[in-house]
Order: sequence, then structure tokens, then C-alpha cells
Amino acid sequence: MPTPHRTCRNWLTATLAALALGPLAVSPVWSQEPDESDGVEDIADDENVTDIVTSEPRHDAPPEENIATTPAQPLSSETAPEPEERATQVAPNIDLKDVAPAPELPPEPSSPEDNEPLPATGAEPEPETTTGVALDNSADPTETTPAELAEPEVAEPEPVATSLMLLNSEVLPGTATRLAWAPGIQMAGLSSPTPVLVINGAKPGPTLCLTGAIHGDELNGIEIVRRTVYALDPEELAGRVIGIPIVNLPGFERGSRYLPDRRDLNRHFPGNLYGSLADRIAHSLFHKVIRHCDMLVDIHTGSQRRTNLPQLRANMNRPEVAAFTRGFDRMAVVHSTGTEGMLRTAAVNAGITAVTLEAGESLRIQEHQIKAGVNSLNSLMEKQGMISRMFVWGEPEPIYYNSFWIRAEHGGILFSEVELGDRVSTGEVLGYVSDPITNARHPIEAPANGRVIGMAVDQVVMAGFAAYHIGAVTDMPVEEDEQVED
Ligand SMILES: [Zn+2]
Repeated sequence: MPTPHRTCRNWLTATLAALALGPLAVSPVWSQEPDESDGVEDIADDENVTDIVTSEPRHDAPPEENIATTPAQPLSSETAPEPEERATQVAPNIDLKDVAPAPELPPEPSSPEDNEPLPATGAEPEPETTTGVALDNSADPTETTPAELAEPEVAEPEPVATSLMLLNSEVLPGTATRLAWAPGIQMAGLSSPTPVLVINGAKPGPTLCLTGAIHGDELNGIEIVRRTVYALDPEELAGRVIGIPIVNLPGFERGSRYLPDRRDLNRHFPGNLYGSLADRIAHSLFHKVIRHCDMLVDIHTGSQRRTNLPQLRANMNRPEVAAFTRGFDRMAVVHSTGTEGMLRTAAVNAGITAVTLEAGESLRIQEHQIKAGVNSLNSLMEKQGMISRMFVWGEPEPIYYNSFWIRAEHGGILFSEVELGDRVSTGEVLGYVSDPITNARHPIEAPANGRVIGMAVDQVVMAGFAAYHIGAVTDMPVEEDEQVED
């Protein structure tokens, strides 16, 4: 039986040295984060539309530094040199099509929070084989591009799939398993680990990560991740897929968008080991899971009873992100530079190609939206050379380089005249806000041509509520006032 501290002494010594340097090494990254003394800003966030950002217009010639970062070096040298992960166990191969017990959290051999010195362990030296696999793993397979896979090389040996070291487990090639991630914020005895579904393909390829329910009330993404991951066959897969259907488990259990401290987790990435609860959860997820990804699709829905046409939110100023969006079939793309603290922003900054996938509204399971999401993820995996399904591509959806929100000017009850996906023209009435006391009826008109890519469902609104999200297809990018990221 493997013991919790089955680690080799040399490595531990190096790790302890790295840990001692850790806080110094990461401080430049923290210093870029906004000061957050008491969380007042976060609480204020909860009360507004939550995600308004000023977005840069798209520009076709991005600055050089945008191109420089590659997936091969996900974290800059300024980022904390986290100890290389070592597996304490080989993950059991589970047929994900079967129902199986929920994963159990494996014992952690060591972590940055745990500075226990070596003698306490009484550990046996780690067998060198595991270490060797881990080192090889970090060097090679994730860099293999689909293009390279497509051309059979005669002279060079074919790349082979290697083990994936994740969450203290070794996932062998050609196997699927369920691991558990726990951010370590709860009483250890009451901690409920978050399931992580992992498929390490028998063939080499990129690592795609799928995250759902970072906002605990956004249910469509949970089902999109489940259907996508459970349909994969590890023997056929080229690369790895890591799916976390429910990232914000506490929020999910309470039907809430937020964490137990009322913070929005998607404003705290890449996190801070010594920060607020949200900072710590974000840091744990980012460093234990996300940094293993080459590509990330973070799945969301509209917030505050708004619904979204299935769409990607992507920073089209980044060429690698723009290229990535072309793999999603029948999915509109909305250009959005993203806000500081969002998972996709932090991932892109760390060299991981990342987009947000929006589908539908919160607190609902919407079959049409789920199907659209699953279809797009399958087409993405085929485009990336990970699966082969004779995928039939649909008509390409437009890219909305410019989008804007139309807000209610009056309080009352909103009744919409348009539906999600409708094309609207300047002056067209989108809906009315009706005052139930005075009987006043205030029309909301489209200020420009475009398509309804997001909208509020009929509800009581106050003046200023973002009611309609209009996407405009234009050749000339226009400076936009704001965006709502959900
Ligand atoms: Zn969300």
C-alpha cells in the first residue's frame, strides 16, 4: 500500500528549499493584483451587473508580447516554482460509462501550507520509475500539435502517450479515472472534495480542460461537461481531457452563484495562497489543475435571470485564442478582452489558450443549449486532432467584434418583444418596461442593427438593469462602452 509520504529524500530537500523561496518568488505576481483589504469591493460587485468591463477594441496587429507566450511555458519565471507533482498512487482505471463510487481525496504528501520537516514522515524512498515518468511528462507530450500528429514521420520515433501526474495520482495512458480536488478551506473532517474527471488518451496530444459551475447556480455547463467527458473512449483519445463539472461545490449545493463568503470566484484567479477564501480556492484550482492544461473552456450561463445565446467569449486580440475559436462548430464568438481575475484571463496570461463558453441561463437545465455546447466541444476536439468522429460542420456563426448592452431606463416589469437570437434593426422595439402603479409603458428600442445574443427574461427590473445584449457584425471595430461577462 502506498503511504502518504512516499517521497524521495532528494526531492523533498529540493522542495523545502523551493518552499522557503516561494513567497519571495511569487510576490511580483501578487503585486499586480488590486489591493483588497477587506472585501468591500467584492461585496459591491454582487450588487451590480457583476461583470461590467471596459473592453479594448479589437486590433488586428497585436503587440509582440501577445504572441510570445506559448503553452510550453504556462507559468512565467516570476511565478512560484511549485514543486513538481509526484504521484502517491496510480489512479484506478474506471470505465466512465459505468456508474462508480465518487472519488475519495487522496492523502497529500506535502503542500506549500504544510512545512513539516522530513523526519516526521518515516518515508520510504520513492521508486525512481514514477519520478522519471513525471519529468518526461512535463517535457514533451503536451506540446505535440495536431499538425504534427497528422503527418506520419518515418525517420523519427512516433511520440507516445505518457502518464499524467495530477492531484497526487498517476493516470496511465489509455485510462480514465475520477480524482478529487479539495482547496483545503474547510475543516478537514467535513471537507467534501470536488470530483475531477480525467481521461488520459492512449495516443499523445494536447490537454483540454473543461470547467463548469464556477458560479454554483449555472447548471447547463455541468451537464455539458458530463456528456462530453463520458462520451470519450481513452483508447481512441489523442491527448487528455480534464473535466471539473462543478468547480464551486459550496455554491452549487446552496443554489448560489457565489462562494460562502459572498465572493465571485471568477474574479479571483489565478488566486493567492494567503488571500481571502476566494483567493485560496482560486489559487488551489489554478495551480493543482489548470496549469496542467494546454487549452481551457470555462462554461457559464447568463447571470441574474439573463439568458445567453450559445457563444464564446474570447479575447480576439490574442492570435492563439482567435485561432482556437475557429474549432467550435456553430458557436457565435463575442470579442471580449476579459476582466482581471477571471479564469480565462488568468489562463491566457499563463499561456493557456482559454475561452468562456456561455450557454443559456442560470438555475436551469436547457437541452437545446446543452446540445449546442456538447456539439461545439466535440468539434473542437476533432479540430485539435484528439478524436475522430466524421464530424459534420454546420454553417459558421459570425464573430461579434462589437457588442453592447441596452439598459432599462425605467423601473417596472420587463416584457420582451424579441427572442434570443433575433436579428434587430435600429429603432426596433425590443420590449417594454411597464409600471404597474402608474400604468406607464416605456419601450426599449434597439439603437443599432445587430442580433440579440443575450437578454433578460421577463422580470421586475430597475432603471439601469442590463436588459439586451446586442452583437454587431462590423468590419471596423468600434470602441464599446461595456460588456457583461457572466
Ligand atoms: Zn458564470
